[in-house]
Amino acid sequence: MAQKRIPLVAGNWKMNKLRAEAAELVSAVLRRVPATSTAEVLFCPPFTALSTAREAMCNALPKRLLDDGRPAAQLGAQDLYPGDSGAFTGEISAPMLRDSGCRYVLVGHSERRHVLGEDNETVAAKFAAAIAGGLVPILCVGEREPERLAGEHLSVVAHQLAAALKHLADRTVMPEIALAYEPVWAIGTGRTATPADAQEMHAHIRRDVAERLDGSTAAKVRILYGGSVKPDNARELMARPDVDGVLVGGASLAADAFLGIIAGAEPE
Ligand code: PEP
Repeated sequence: MAQKRIPLVAGNWKMNKLRAEAAELVSAVLRRVPATSTAEVLFCPPFTALSTAREAMCNALPKRLLDDGRPAAQLGAQDLYPGDSGAFTGEISAPMLRDSGCRYVLVGHSERRHVLGEDNETVAAKFAAAIAGGLVPILCVGEREPERLAGEHLSVVAHQLAAALKHLADRTVMPEIALAYEPVWAIGTGRTATPADAQEMHAHIRRDVAERLDGSTAAKVRILYGGSVKPDNARELMARPDVDGVLVGGASLAADAFLGIIAGAEPE
């Protein structure tokens, strides 16, 4: 029987929202998520709004729980530094994120890779630091447009996975991780991978995880799709067997749109 994976709908707010706006958005979403929703909802505000978002989450009643008893609304950060503390001006560590109430952290988002110059090794160090610090890393991978046009997308993504997953290869107990396939050409552009192309890549990623780690980890790991997800394409994407949720940028900034995407996690 196929493994049941709880859909994860994550909002990456990027460098948006002041604290009052953050509180308003979290409350507006959580007040209106139907009690029957089966999705885990994740907010990834900027560092400055983590505590405010956390407070708004705590104040939102009634609380929805997942099948495993965990709260269905979670907090995550957009990045971290691969060290616990010390002389790293401007940086934020995994223990600090845990202390702010985060369960998740994005690692290797395409803007970190391509705007801020992070290479696979830096991303891999952050991935390892997140796990060591008790966070669940959401490792983002994805090809650029010329790489897809050249038919190199599967190998580019395999290379990105290899760099990070090597940190887990000799573990006897696997920590929880999540992956996000985000084709760079689809992020913030209004262009989306077709559900069939997303499924092809997600199945490839799951096979890759099985080969590099093990079959049970591959069956459990949630693989999100990201890149111009909107209320009108979310359901079709998440209906694919290996698409276990979505990572949403622009459309996570407005309650109505984000709620429409959360609703897309439910089969029709
Ligand atoms: C993202 O930032 O991860 C993203 C997918 O952005 P958008 O939804 O705006 O394309």
